[in-house]
Amino acid sequence: MLEIKNLHVKLEEEDKQILKGVDLSIAPGSVHAIMGPNGSGKSTLSYVLSGRDGYEVTEGAASLDGHDLLELDPEERAALGLFLAFQYPVEIPGVGNMTFLRTAVNAQRKARGEEELSAADFLKLIRAKAKTLKIDADMLKRPVNVGFSGGEKKRNEILQMAMLEPKMCVLDETDSGLDVDAMKLVAEGVNALRSEGRSFLVITHYQRLLDHIKPDVVHIMADGRIVKSGGPDLALEVEHNGYADILAEVV
Ligand code: ADP
Ligand code: MG
Ligand code: MG
Repeated sequence: MLEIKNLHVKLEEEDKQILKGVDLSIAPGSVHAIMGPNGSGKSTLSYVLSGRDGYEVTEGAASLDGHDLLELDPEERAALGLFLAFQYPVEIPGVGNMTFLRTAVNAQRKARGEEELSAADFLKLIRAKAKTLKIDADMLKRPVNVGFSGGEKKRNEILQMAMLEPKMCVLDETDSGLDVDAMKLVAEGVNALRSEGRSFLVITHYQRLLDHIKPDVVHIMADGRIVKSGGPDLALEVEHNGYADILAEVV
């Protein structure tokens, strides 16, 4: 599904190398987690996958289902089924959440050669999905993320994901700033979407989210590289011993 090979990325504006050879291969239906200290490049990896400006790929490759992601616009990547839930969801003043989602869903359907959803069908769908994420009608009418609490923004990201039904979902610290109940809601939202054809990359600084979203593979990222990979036990090791032991072991 997602294939990243020897990815090197620097900042466009500065001569600063951030990713220094990331290798990652995610099979259909599997859930991978990336953990790592602050500043190790986790968010940068998600930004580069999404096609955000400001980063330059100096070496390596990234593909989704065999399509070279790095050649494509962000919209084209989304049409292929890539979805990113950001660490800091953006606010879009003046654009109603519902309108935004309807536009996104229909653009996605169009790109896939499917018919647009009727207003009635869309409403039915979004109400059902919003209900499971405890998102009320009021939140659907307000401008995208404007005035939303941290927890509401994160749940709204998962609602977007549920509506777009992507193939490859990347969640960047979707758990940060959430209380336990909100985190469980987010995890339930993700778990409800797990399926054979859909993969997840869950980026998290802390282990607790992984109690609720059980990963198949856990990677540790440090200084722009994946330095260790293992099973769910690796996350528990980090929880108990912190990153220092693992980093000392690999350096
Ligand atoms: P993480 O998500 O693991 O905390 P980031 O990807 O956010 O790490 O950051 C990796 C490193 O790159 C950090 O040292 C950060 O300061 C730097 N960095 C990332 N983006 C920028 C930017 N736009 N300008 C300056 N430094 C940046
Ligand atoms: Mg960070
Ligand atoms: Mg980050």
